[in-house]
Amino acid sequence: MLIVMDQKATPAEVDAVVAAIEVRGYTARPIPGGERVSIGILNNKGPVDAGLFLGLPGVKDAIPVTRPYKLVSREFKPENTVIRVGDVTIGSDDLVIMAGPCAIESESQALTIAAHVKRSGAGIFRGGAFKPRTSPYSFQGLGRKGLEILAQVRETTGMPVVTEVMDLETFELVEQYADVIQIGTRNMQNFSLLRRAGRAKKPILLKRGMAATIDEWLMAAEYILEGGNPQVILCERGVRTFAHHSRNTLDLSAVAVVRKESHLPVIVDPSHAAGRREQVIPLSRAAVAVGAQGLMVEVHHAPDTAMSDGAQSLYPDQFETLCHHVRSIYEVFQANGC
Ligand code: PEP
Ligand code: MN
Repeated sequence: MLIVMDQKATPAEVDAVVAAIEVRGYTARPIPGGERVSIGILNNKGPVDAGLFLGLPGVKDAIPVTRPYKLVSREFKPENTVIRVGDVTIGSDDLVIMAGPCAIESESQALTIAAHVKRSGAGIFRGGAFKPRTSPYSFQGLGRKGLEILAQVRETTGMPVVTEVMDLETFELVEQYADVIQIGTRNMQNFSLLRRAGRAKKPILLKRGMAATIDEWLMAAEYILEGGNPQVILCERGVRTFAHHSRNTLDLSAVAVVRKESHLPVIVDPSHAAGRREQVIPLSRAAVAVGAQGLMVEVHHAPDTAMSDGAQSLYPDQFETLCHHVRSIYEVFQANGC
């Protein structure tokens, strides 16, 4: 249930409602809004009696929340969440483009690619230091050295960096270096990692599990918000299907559904969905048209020699084309109030 306070409600009235919720054994979660405060009621086992709160001073309304995910839902918070990372905002009117190699391979590789993607208009640099690989014999990432290189990219280019955290042991280390912490598809339901992300002070980019329903994905985000971190960016990256023409199937309808269901920003990773470079530009155009608020794209200056995901990595000039295309589409939609 969501208790909606009157616009003129005083802090003391809000506190009194919180106390009335907690005395019944529920958890109260105040949600500051643009015009008024709302208070979410969590941890209720059964239905909550609205009459308990409707008569209290400053209470305007009590709305039942029907969704299993509470804090991430628009029922709890109707307005979009906007996340600020350096000079970049995600979830606002800007289209944010994150780009870079799958894995950080060396200082010169990262700096070369960073210069290219920055020139084309990327706002955030991506690159894995800890890589989740299907085979234990594949390149596993440079680890701490990779994080140091990411810090150097940030220093040199001014771009914030996003990188993946794979486990609890390295969480603190990744948190020190990253501006945005990525939780990958394979870890979307790693609940201890989600709980740790809930205590992080940095935004979390939560990829959709490759076999996760939208409800499961939003419930994973709920763990992070429930743990105290409201800064979550959702990322659709394709799901497993019977199709063989691409590595995964990009579920663009999920973007439309999640934008309606949740106030959290939603971006699309066309690279891991496609697995093949020639599909990345068309999928990016479609992602922006369906309402994605950003993209995360793999780019490499020498993809044939890339240590991971070379086949899906764009050449820098292709990335430049992608940026032109998606920005024009985005502008048309904005001009039409979409
Ligand atoms: C990645 O972004 O490099 C990655 C491993 O992504 P995913 O978790 O979507 O496979
Ligand atoms: Mn990759």
